Amino acid sequence: MTIIEKLDLLYHSIPRGVRMIVVSKTQSPETITETYNAGHRDFGENKVQEMISKAAALPPDIHWHFIGHLQTNKVKYIVPVVYMIHSIDSLKLLKEVDREALKAGRIISCLLQIHIASEETKFGFDPVEAFGVLDSAEYRAMQNVRIRGLMGMATFTDDTNLVRQEFRYLRECFGRMKAEYFQADTSFCELSMGMSGDYSLAIEEGSTMVRIGTAIFGERPKIKSEL
Ligand SMILES: *Cc1c(COP(=O)(O)O)cnc(C)c1O
Repeated sequence: MTIIEKLDLLYHSIPRGVRMIVVSKTQSPETITETYNAGHRDFGENKVQEMISKAAALPPDIHWHFIGHLQTNKVKYIVPVVYMIHSIDSLKLLKEVDREALKAGRIISCLLQIHIASEETKFGFDPVEAFGVLDSAEYRAMQNVRIRGLMGMATFTDDTNLVRQEFRYLRECFGRMKAEYFQADTSFCELSMGMSGDYSLAIEEGSTMVRIGTAIFGERPKIKSEL
């Protein structure tokens, strides 16, 4: 199957109301252009340099979603081009996004990344910490970020019960946060969960955005840090 055929199949298997973010990390601008020409506009990247050079080379109506761990000192580079940051994992980072967005005259959509996996290595807030951010005077003073929802990554495992529990937990956090802080705010509506291996489960558990790479492009070449 070609990339476009796989993309088409995914479109047909994903319900209306769930947005597919095509995770284009490590893929060339030519490959991205192929899916762009098929009508796709939402792409996910996890490296700052890679996102900004692709953004410079590709059409301006692409929505660039930043999905990787973001260092505070690199925020300024992505602020001009990013559509949504899925991976806010500290108050310090959110403050920096707000500061740079103000300078750029933008309001940037952000998701709080919640740590839901049983693995140690994945980034993200504990829910209690995330509530702490929303309670803080610093957050309340911010004018240039808009928190649109939550993001999470489930444990990388074949144990579908565990994965389902983790997604369900994220959905519950979302519900509580919505009720306590965003009841009147219709823009707090996104739950970014589900990747190639677990997107169907994520959708069953209420995902509104799935982030899919491998199921479209095949296995990525391993980079050094993953070996
Ligand atoms: C790479 C990546 C994905 C996509 O993973 P696949 O298994 O290739 O679909 C999704 N989310 C994040 C945060 C990623 O880094």
